[in-house]
Amino acid sequence: MDDTQLLRYSRHLLLNELGPDAQARFAAARALVVGVGGLGNPAAQLLASAGVGRITLVDADLVDLTNLQRQILFAMDDVGTPKVEAAARRLASINPEPVYVRVAKRVGPDELAALASDADVVLDCTDNFATRHAINRACVGARVPLVSGAAIRFDGQVAVFDARDADSPCYHCLFGEGEELEETRCATMGVFAPLVAIVGATQAGEALKILSGIGATLAGRLLLYDALRASWREMKVPRDPACAVCADRR
Ligand SMILES: [Zn+2]
Repeated sequence: MDDTQLLRYSRHLLLNELGPDAQARFAAARALVVGVGGLGNPAAQLLASAGVGRITLVDADLVDLTNLQRQILFAMDDVGTPKVEAAARRLASINPEPVYVRVAKRVGPDELAALASDADVVLDCTDNFATRHAINRACVGARVPLVSGAAIRFDGQVAVFDARDADSPCYHCLFGEGEELEETRCATMGVFAPLVAIVGATQAGEALKILSGIGATLAGRLLLYDALRASWREMKVPRDPACAVCADRR
């Protein structure tokens, strides 16, 4: 590390758990962020400012005026610009060291599999079940840890599904696909702006812990936050031995 890097990352380097070795791991790491909206904005910003070496941003959408209430990387000038372009530009202005890969399109199962197998950690910052299940399949297939976040109205969720560990559940163990869960979208239901930052930041924290190998991750646990009551709750997530996605994994 040169002097500028020592200064830039000094507040992490000061932590016993995150010394120069962890910083070197961040610099060598590849993170995949799928969805560059309310969750993906703060998550990507924290990974970028921490010096994660390569950050791949996936989102087909353009920045819209309704995004600016909570998507903290974007400004008025970005309206109409692809989110991945606007986000990468902003992230590079904060930290020019990481490589920012932009994928400005919807990705199918094959592309997700390729993207996941080329990542050390995947952050699911999307807002629909079909994409969440596709990302989960890609992560189980590639044996890459998945940090999943969700936020709607005042309710947030974060979980880690670590496919490297045979005992860890996957997203499908928790949310089966046949269960006709009602799709809830920010566009119709609304979302409390600070909530997405809280959930996205928590996702970034789990990703940095996974990359550096410190602490205990949320693998096997689902963390629920009720922003109206300001209360956190935790649920154990068991592995489903009959899971259609991960059962034949071991
Ligand atoms: Zn499973």
